[in-house]
Amino acid sequence: MHHRARSLSRPSLAPFQRPALAWLMAAALGLAWPHPAPARPAADKSDKSERAEKPATEKSLGKETVRDDGAAEKGSGENLGMLRQRLAERLATRPDPAPAAARPEAKGEARAEGKGEPRADAKTTRHADAKGHGGEIHWAYDGEGGPERWGELKPEFRTCATGKRQSPIDIRDGIRVDLEKIQFDYQPSGFAVLDNGHTIQVNLAPGNSLQVMGRRYELLQFHFHRPSEERINGRQFDMVAHLVHKDPDGRLAVVAVLLERGRDQPLVQTVWNNLPLEKGEALAAPGQMDLNQLLPEDRAYYTYMGSLTTPPCSEGVLWMVMRQPVQLSANQLSIFGKLYPMNARPVQPGSGRLIKESQ
Ligand SMILES: [Zn+2]
Repeated sequence: MHHRARSLSRPSLAPFQRPALAWLMAAALGLAWPHPAPARPAADKSDKSERAEKPATEKSLGKETVRDDGAAEKGSGENLGMLRQRLAERLATRPDPAPAAARPEAKGEARAEGKGEPRADAKTTRHADAKGHGGEIHWAYDGEGGPERWGELKPEFRTCATGKRQSPIDIRDGIRVDLEKIQFDYQPSGFAVLDNGHTIQVNLAPGNSLQVMGRRYELLQFHFHRPSEERINGRQFDMVAHLVHKDPDGRLAVVAVLLERGRDQPLVQTVWNNLPLEKGEALAAPGQMDLNQLLPEDRAYYTYMGSLTTPPCSEGVLWMVMRQPVQLSANQLSIFGKLYPMNARPVQPGSGRLIKESQ
């Protein structure tokens, strides 16, 4: 029996309401998408690229994959039934759990996406390691699948090379204006932690959102980069957290919280405490987390239009970078560094984009 199935029957889940249970089941299945999708134009609904960054567990579900987190969030009896059925099917068809192979020892080694499938040869070179089963090169932060090559790896990644409004950027020369306050509406929420092969990602149960420029965006997930991808007047920070939100029309808004070495950060600690032992499988955590704990006291921010910073690099993403960094401890930094010593895309040309900054 797979451990994810056991985690579903934990007694601690019993008091949960049905929607929360449905969400947790979805998270355990890798269905609760919570991952950056491009804000796709209406005419482009067939674009498969929106799924490119999803957790690897979904790949094996093929056409069964829920295209959006919406279905998993509704928590109706029907959806719950559907999820149960899928769980049963998945457990029935699932290949034997991978032997404890997988995690590359070498720091900075290009890592295959996904669940840490056993490798034929334990002495895999970086070259082989970067390739999937079809001989296809996985995107990475160095080597053959590195950022300069992202646009060539797959047709749906082309925007990474050809886009004119890419992220991250070096934020400078913004205009100082009275920027409207971002209305954060975060509350203690259930969560699941996922090592997706590119970063540590936390999928949130529904119920967290923000409002800005007349739109309400729901928080789907947050994840980390080391060092920070964005720069402020050339300065790079130790890490950054990206809080990924989506509105009902599919538009994305990402809040970036810059992280610098200092004192312990309680929410980061909660995430590290719940790190899964295996890649590619979202592990539902006991308890809840409150994202307000990650926000800086000063809510001034920079804003500009950009893209996802990982393939497919889709544009149309509203970026809001909090100006005041938040501290985390040296120990917390080094824990992430052991998993992902460098997972930041290089800065992209500003190309004359307007940057606004709070007074
Ligand atoms: Zn990010």
